[in-house]
Amino acid sequence: MESGGPITANRALSNALRDSRDELITRWLDRIAARVAIPPNVVFPTEELLNHVPLLIDGIAAFVDEGINDIDAETPVIAKARELGALRHSQGFDVYQILKEYELMSGVLMSFITDLVIGGKLDFPTEDVLRCNQRVSQAVELIRQATTTHFLRLAAEKVNDREERLRRFNRMVSHELKNHVSAIKGAVSLMGEPWIDGEKRAQFLEMATTNIVGLQHVLENLELLSRTGVDARHNRNVLLPHAAREAARQLRDMSDARGVTVHVAEDLPAVEVNAPAVELCLANYISNAIKYSDPKKPDRFVRVTGSFQPRAASGRGGELIVRVEDNGIGVPEAQRAKLFSQFYRAANNTITGAEGTGLGLSIVRDTVESFGGSAWVEFPDGGGSIFAFSLPSRRDEDAAAAGVTRVPV
Ligand code: ADP
Repeated sequence: MESGGPITANRALSNALRDSRDELITRWLDRIAARVAIPPNVVFPTEELLNHVPLLIDGIAAFVDEGINDIDAETPVIAKARELGALRHSQGFDVYQILKEYELMSGVLMSFITDLVIGGKLDFPTEDVLRCNQRVSQAVELIRQATTTHFLRLAAEKVNDREERLRRFNRMVSHELKNHVSAIKGAVSLMGEPWIDGEKRAQFLEMATTNIVGLQHVLENLELLSRTGVDARHNRNVLLPHAAREAARQLRDMSDARGVTVHVAEDLPAVEVNAPAVELCLANYISNAIKYSDPKKPDRFVRVTGSFQPRAASGRGGELIVRVEDNGIGVPEAQRAKLFSQFYRAANNTITGAEGTGLGLSIVRDTVESFGGSAWVEFPDGGGSIFAFSLPSRRDEDAAAAGVTRVPV
């Protein structure tokens, strides 16, 4: 609202900022998109947030306006700046990118002010204009601090969470290793006793061997797990059909030995995926499907299928879903909820006597979650199981590669 007296430089600038709000936002988004290589309409992917971004400009305008001395921590603009921090955190941005965004915002605002001065629209004494300029910088700085502080808080929470998971994991691995080692130690020392007969000795040998195999499984899984921790961006990408065929190939001896046929669907979406991660997940799912096949069924199979769902709102990128279906023994209902927990083994193992550590599914879950996806299991009415995982894709080409016709936006 204009006051009765002569208009000040601050008031003139804040009015101009409000009037040109949409144009300023567009310029800012275009510059961000050019820097971080994502299309402008996914830079702020939720409609709600995009509708609120104008508040950032309004907040700056209010701060520049005389009479408003500080951006209070409770003002909507600070809340929006924090939301931006949360969004950037969920999108996997780093602090450098956030600082860069605000540097770009400063740049857009500074050239806006320069244009106003050159165009004679901010016709005030130089010192007043300079003071306005300083005020804009201060406002951007306050918003930048709110975004960054919130972003760093969320990042610290994530690190704490990971540390806690790691501690839990260490405890469980140590426990598992200790159990195997003490069983081996006991069996071997008993085998050395003079009073042991041949039959007992054979039993202890069997016990030692089983536990050595168990140890080997734990170590193999630990090795796989350590490989999934490497920076995803440095990993090799391949097309999904290639990764699926490779995982099935690695398990051919196992499937032949158990008389299980592994089918890889011909129409898997030809989407690029991270090769080690997807091969690891598929190898885990397929080997379980073979391991827990139903010996009573004459025709035992595992089927790998996939689909690609474009994101409805933006029409860009989407979600890749991969399913590994089997007609195996399934999992009793009461045990289903815990399947993806570390070291969990359902009671159905007693039927098959299958060797395992209960680490495989949690490795799959951790791997896909580290890529922003998820892992789950479905149990069809007809029996068997469908273990599935999804991976997000931000890439525009994926929808085209998957043969999906998008509805134009
Ligand atoms: P492991 O196979 O080493 O025990 P996993 O984490 O891979 O460990 O699997 C956990 C448990 O889930 C298994 O012990 C088994 O009971 C159950 N399971 C996994 N996959 C299947 C499947 N395809 N069919 C039936 N049960 C399964």
